Amino acid sequence: MYSQDIIIVGAGVIGLSTAYTLAKSKIRVSLVDQYLPFRKASWAGAGIIPPGNPCHAKNPVDWLRAKSAQLFPELSSELLQLTGINNGYTVCGGLELTQEFDEMSEQGFQQENINFKRVDAPELHSSFPHISKKFEKAIHFQDMAQIRNPRHLKALTKACISLGVKIYNDCKITGLLRKGEKIIGLDSESGVFTADQFIITTGCWSGIFLKQEQIDVNIFPIKGQMLLLQSSLKLKEIILNGKMYIVPRRDDLVLVGSTEEDVGFNPSTSSDARDLLFKTACDIIPDIEKAKIIDQWSGLRPASSNGRPLIGKSPFSENLYFATGHFRQGLQTSPATAMVIKSLLLGEKTEFNPGYFMHTTHQDTKSLFQS
Ligand SMILES: Cc1cc2nc3c(=O)[nH]c(=O)nc-3n(C[C@H](O)[C@H](O)[C@H](O)COP(=O)(O)OP(=O)(O)OC[C@H]3O[C@@H](n4cnc5c(N)ncnc54)[C@H](O)[C@@H]3O)c2cc1C
Repeated sequence: MYSQDIIIVGAGVIGLSTAYTLAKSKIRVSLVDQYLPFRKASWAGAGIIPPGNPCHAKNPVDWLRAKSAQLFPELSSELLQLTGINNGYTVCGGLELTQEFDEMSEQGFQQENINFKRVDAPELHSSFPHISKKFEKAIHFQDMAQIRNPRHLKALTKACISLGVKIYNDCKITGLLRKGEKIIGLDSESGVFTADQFIITTGCWSGIFLKQEQIDVNIFPIKGQMLLLQSSLKLKEIILNGKMYIVPRRDDLVLVGSTEEDVGFNPSTSSDARDLLFKTACDIIPDIEKAKIIDQWSGLRPASSNGRPLIGKSPFSENLYFATGHFRQGLQTSPATAMVIKSLLLGEKTEFNPGYFMHTTHQDTKSLFQS
């Protein structure tokens, strides 16, 4: 029997960020994961952090992204100080290629006070000479940033341990143990875990817990594959083209992502995806053809049936919380997600109606922000 104040199930970026945020508030936390660390969606991701301004976010999902963008610089230096691990946070800028400038989206950036600039053909090709001449328009986001996921996870893990968080790896939680309206424990292959409060951050594997709680939201895996290239091109900006992107790191490494595949819990990589990603990169930057492919991997993103993360207290158990279903945005929204869970646990006011993220059905009629 293992006993703590709070047990978090799932040590991806959402679970680790939540554990870290709670431990900083002197709450005793344990973190349980079914695998050894670092090989799930959170490890696999590209670490793109779009800019944002939480004061002007137009809905709670935008607020999560924008608030996180604001929190990352401080979080990164805090982790560096506490652990000596540099998570690679860099404001590198980003270039979004487009066929046409879209006034609606630009109005959104303006309303949120996001710095952006239209770049058209002559400037695009003189300022970003690597980009193929077939692209003629782009939006430049000077405040777009990136982190290196594996390093960020390592730093969070070390920081959690230094703050007293107990981490149990290789331990699969198989179900919730209930008495009346409370969860009294978690069943696992290694015994029962008891605690006062429980938080489920199990990414695409959250279905069994939602089903036990009779929450009618489907969380399911969407595989993303990624390539790692070594290239002598001196690239700086992240380049986005629809759902595909190129993320240059500082050490001649270049990430190319990513596929979206609805193939269940199948993490294998394929030569088709490798060829598609490499071709995509060459279409955007022809000189990348000379780059060497040095790795390929995949991750299972936690998608949710209504396209929003599920964050908050279970409507059916007074001491059970969920933070899952972040799909393509889990990394970039992780610090603010952790903050929301902490506020809910401590009974603090949140900046928006917490019901927005606890959409237990597919309809939502609640007002977005708290008055
Ligand atoms: C290729 C790719 C590129 C991406 N790029 C970006 C990006 O640039 N920016 C961005 O913001 N997001 C990106 N994402 C999305 C992001 O990675 C995910 O949204 C995020 O990692 C989800 O984090 P998580 O902690 O919810 O899930 P996970 O990282 O999957 O963690 C869940 C954890 O729960 C554990 N677990 C599950 N079930 C149990 C159980 N029963 N008992 C014990 N433990 C359990 C698992 O072992 C796992 O470690 C990308 C994803 C992929 C795949």
